[in-house]
Amino acid sequence: MPFSHHSHSGQFCAHAKDSLESCILQAISKNLRVFCLTEHMPRSDPRDFYPEEVEMGITPQHLTDSFAEFYETAVALRDKYKEEITLLIGFEVDYIRPSMLAEIKQLQETYSFDMFIGSVHHVDEIAIDFSEELFHRAISAVEAVDSGADIAEAYNQGTKIERFPEIQRTTSKGEERLFEVYFDTQYMMLTALKPPVIGHFDLIRLKCNDYKADFRAMKSVWEKIVRNVKFISEYGGMVEINSAATRKGWEYPYPGPDILQLMKEAGVRFVLSDDSHGTAQVAFGYEKSLAYLEKQGVEEVWYYEWIGWERGIKDGILRPEDRYLPKISPLCVEAKSAVVKDLRGIVPA
Ligand SMILES: [Zn+2]
Ligand SMILES: [Zn+2]
Repeated sequence: MPFSHHSHSGQFCAHAKDSLESCILQAISKNLRVFCLTEHMPRSDPRDFYPEEVEMGITPQHLTDSFAEFYETAVALRDKYKEEITLLIGFEVDYIRPSMLAEIKQLQETYSFDMFIGSVHHVDEIAIDFSEELFHRAISAVEAVDSGADIAEAYNQGTKIERFPEIQRTTSKGEERLFEVYFDTQYMMLTALKPPVIGHFDLIRLKCNDYKADFRAMKSVWEKIVRNVKFISEYGGMVEINSAATRKGWEYPYPGPDILQLMKEAGVRFVLSDDSHGTAQVAFGYEKSLAYLEKQGVEEVWYYEWIGWERGIKDGILRPEDRYLPKISPLCVEAKSAVVKDLRGIVPA
């Protein structure tokens, strides 16, 4: 199916593979009509580096330079392939501690973007999707910060963990408490940024004990999810159906059925994403994502396209003849809808 609103490439991301151009060529050969280029934002604090970055001895300056090079490359490629595919330029947010907000604003002032992905990958500064070990470390960090005690678990690489001050303590413990703080952090991110696309809404489930456990059974967690979904529906954010979950062993993409149904009832719009980190993952698992949506009664999905451009979803035919490449800006793209069942079978296996 022909759109991905979230992608990375090995050229600009140490935990991905392949050049940006080869990922784009793969997207074209998979009949994608829209492919959003959304590299991870540069992180300025070495405490937030991904393990491969630490291993490679990368500095904050490397990440800033690499993002600049990504942007320049992406701008050239959107022009080069405009007849074949709509390449939208964006980035993926990290929301680790309160100072991230200034870093995101700075990035948005430095560059123009068509869109961006609002994601949360950390809770109390600890990455929650990387490994089970780190997931458990995040639980200890949350409990330590809650306790207010000056103990080792309340520190991240020698510096005291900085929690978002709005996050209230509760009496929950373990995974349930981690879920609460994750959805509170997500709420901070949502209210601060109103992202056009929300990334892997329930990523917090990836390394948990049972990804199928129904959040509706956890009252305090569910209340936070309901609040977040209500906020998204009010400002008109779109949520990705992110197939990365299926390549990590899930039976369905993010978000799970409990949340998907809630969003559907709240009138939230969905977009499709592969969250690819290399050519092998471009459009991965799309038939599964579409089958999931059909089974859940979601009949349409949304996608961004340049205003005034129209591509046949099945045949890729481009109209009208007199079109010019717009500026890179949220004002130059519009959300359009497509019928889920019309998208079946377009992506070659
Ligand atoms: Zn990544
Ligand atoms: Zn992500």
